[in-house]
Amino acid sequence: MKRLIIVSNRLPIQLLRQESGVQLLESAGGLATALKSYLQAQDRSSFNPEEVIWVGNADFSPELWEEFNETKQSTGTFKIAPLWLDNEVNDGFYNGLSNSTIWPLFHYFPTFATYKDSDWQAYQQANEVFADRLAELYQPGDVLWIHDYHLMLLPKLVRSRRPDATIGFFLHIPFPSFEIYRMLPGPWREGLLNGMLGSDLIGFHTNDYVQHFEKSVHRLIGNESKLRSIQVGNRPVKVDLFPISIDYERFNSAYTLPEVVEERNKIREQLQDNKLLFSVDRLDYTKGVLNRLQGYEKFLERHPEWHGRISFVMVVVPSRSEISSYGERKQMIEENTGRINGRFATMSWQPVVYQYRSLSFEQLCAYYTACDVALITPIRDGMNLVAKEFVATRQDEQGVLILSEVAGAAAELGEALLINPTDREGMAQAIERALSMSPQNQSERMRLMQTRIREYDVVQWADDFLTQLFNAKSQQHQWEVRILNVALRKQIMEKYQNAQKRLLLLDYDGTLVPFAKFPELARPSERVVELLNELAAVPQNQVVIISGRDKKTLENWFGSLAIQLVAEHGAAVRQPDGIWQENPDAFHPEWRANIQQAMNLAVQRCPGTFVEEKTHSLAWHYRNTADDLGFARSRDLIDTLHGLTGHQLQVIDGNKVVEVRVAGVDKGSVASRIASESNYDFIMAIGDDRTDEDMFRALSDRALTIKVGQQKTLARYSLPDTGAVLSFLQRFTGMENNGENIDLTPNTELTSA
Ligand code: UDP
Repeated sequence: MKRLIIVSNRLPIQLLRQESGVQLLESAGGLATALKSYLQAQDRSSFNPEEVIWVGNADFSPELWEEFNETKQSTGTFKIAPLWLDNEVNDGFYNGLSNSTIWPLFHYFPTFATYKDSDWQAYQQANEVFADRLAELYQPGDVLWIHDYHLMLLPKLVRSRRPDATIGFFLHIPFPSFEIYRMLPGPWREGLLNGMLGSDLIGFHTNDYVQHFEKSVHRLIGNESKLRSIQVGNRPVKVDLFPISIDYERFNSAYTLPEVVEERNKIREQLQDNKLLFSVDRLDYTKGVLNRLQGYEKFLERHPEWHGRISFVMVVVPSRSEISSYGERKQMIEENTGRINGRFATMSWQPVVYQYRSLSFEQLCAYYTACDVALITPIRDGMNLVAKEFVATRQDEQGVLILSEVAGAAAELGEALLINPTDREGMAQAIERALSMSPQNQSERMRLMQTRIREYDVVQWADDFLTQLFNAKSQQHQWEVRILNVALRKQIMEKYQNAQKRLLLLDYDGTLVPFAKFPELARPSERVVELLNELAAVPQNQVVIISGRDKKTLENWFGSLAIQLVAEHGAAVRQPDGIWQENPDAFHPEWRANIQQAMNLAVQRCPGTFVEEKTHSLAWHYRNTADDLGFARSRDLIDTLHGLTGHQLQVIDGNKVVEVRVAGVDKGSVASRIASESNYDFIMAIGDDRTDEDMFRALSDRALTIKVGQQKTLARYSLPDTGAVLSFLQRFTGMENNGENIDLTPNTELTSA
């Protein structure tokens, strides 16, 4: 059985010095409870519960820890591996970058975000301390599950120390849209993305967050996500959504707990016949407490008939008191509460009962089950567990949930009354609607929401994440690159020699010649022409240059050779006898003007780039501009082009080129056609670009496919560069001349993909 290592900023325990010695107190936080339940569900867990280690930043001293270990009067569920950060580092890491930069920005409060270099330094240092601690603990086969926005750099740092580790990362807060994310300074925003991409699986709460992350990676780093998989070097990284949930049974059964029943009766007694509106949140500007108060005020303005008949109990739990924006918020909440009470209260009635404190589990459940309406109105919230907990506790199927549409939970709780948290009028109407909702309607809504939460509870959530992490890892093993040994190479040579009819499909740019500043400069060298000539001179061989170049250029360079030429990815094909055939589907002049306009704009915005006009496509090249500028503009252009092109056209994100061509005309279809034109018993396809992947895919079952370069590929083998391709091809010509003396020593790095 494997060992599971959980990593989070906080540890799930506290140490308390008591007269009897140092005691360990387990916290009832969502994640710790989730994992406990997951491990208890033995049939679902692949881990040894005795070997679950939790690594985190200790809020107790090393001395207290030592004292605890000497006596060990109590043990918890998890093996605890604490680490200690220097005070100054911890401040910049936790109060600084984590909670004054990432937290506000990711919750769409950019004006609250600060950008201090010293905080970024501290954040990096803290993540390094975590990485060192993990490297110490790590044993081969361990599974690492890293949690949340404090540790976004950690997956990559661990990966560099332990390349084979199985690493999952889960983000518990929203991942914001690209426009917000890009506000982070360059090295930070790229660093955080690259950090997360060190994982094998990255989890988010909602589909929107997944898409925002994918877009930021594409725009800032360039890697595209296909079917929720992002290729990073040789590793595919899975990204997916796993909406976190709660321990449904624990909350549901709380309804009948004697302490809860007693507390609930007390609350109801105090209320007399008044309706109860309830909210509970940590003190945080993201929770929308002020907006909520203002919405409630609007309700009281609009509905005097409810005066004296409703109480709003608003519990605010102390949080992050060291950060000034939190303290200011507290003051504003108190002022607004005072103002509303001052405006509407009577001798016998207080409209808002404000409590600044934390509640025990029993008190919380008593409020959840005593209230008529739960008013949960965050301005942004990754998920919001309070909403799910409220629903789960209502065994009586009564009560109405008013929920902000921008809480992650809204995606799963569509039967709540969903409101926009800044719309006071809308909130006032929702309160009125909730108060007058029939018991039957309440029960129908509750039942649907309860079923959904029960079916995907927190155990299911953990199980789902860890199962997908294993799947992602085993998929990666299938992609692993192995060095092709001499024996395999000999096999290829033998196959070639024994074949009666051979097809050699060769891409041109990046395969036979390196890229040049301008496409017209990347002319074939004499060596290339000679090589092609020699290969084509062998009667058993059919040599094909399969390229994105236009037919004029190919004709100009290779017109005199007895080889087949494929221009513009298949839009035109020339047989060895010199006759060109055009693909009738490939020419659609009507799209040209719009695409050209967008590309011309990209040229104006990015000096050094240019548009190549081909018969059947348009290509914008950005090889000759600053890498980062060209890259950034290419992302803009691709976005624009996606908006302009319909199904008939395809936007290709190539090697420093963005090309638009007709969909369906690609190297895959033309290569398949050529391969089926004769009875070939040896087919080899070599290429370097994304367009060559179509060819690799189409020929995967019958050809020897070779990718030039290190990127992700569907090809079976890879060669490092054009030099290696030429030496490799040269061997085939050598074989024809001196069949008996094949040199099989590995002079190229042919690797199997
Ligand atoms: N909660 C708590 N103490 C309290 C009141 C609530 O620990 O006094 C818990 C509550 O049960 C819920 C969590 O705090 O599980 C709040 O989670 P949520 O996702 O709603 O917001 P977060 O505070 O994580 O932003």
